[in-house]
Amino acid sequence: MPLPVPDNEESMAVCRRFCGPCPSFKPNKLNEYEPHALFCARGKSQKPMSEIENKGCSCFGCDLFPKYQLEKGYFCMPDKI
Ligand code: SF4
Ligand code: SF4
Repeated sequence: MPLPVPDNEESMAVCRRFCGPCPSFKPNKLNEYEPHALFCARGKSQKPMSEIENKGCSCFGCDLFPKYQLEKGYFCMPDKI
């Protein structure tokens, strides 16, 4: 079972390194919608799922992924997988 990811600056610093350059993040302008990033802790993007294009996910390389036993990835767009 996944463990809860803390919503704090330390997690954000890691997330920036992976969600930031993720092929889906910038093209979909996910930074312009709540919760901006750290989707594994904060939940999916508030951008309408119909307007998000799945171009891949970099969560699988993120240090928090194994640390918190995360599963599936695509936390910003769970409806798209
Ligand atoms: S697992 Fe994904 S959403 Fe969570 S911190 Fe890492 S890159 Fe960001
Ligand atoms: S949660 Fe995954 S798909 Fe979404 S922006 Fe972060 S790395 Fe990309």
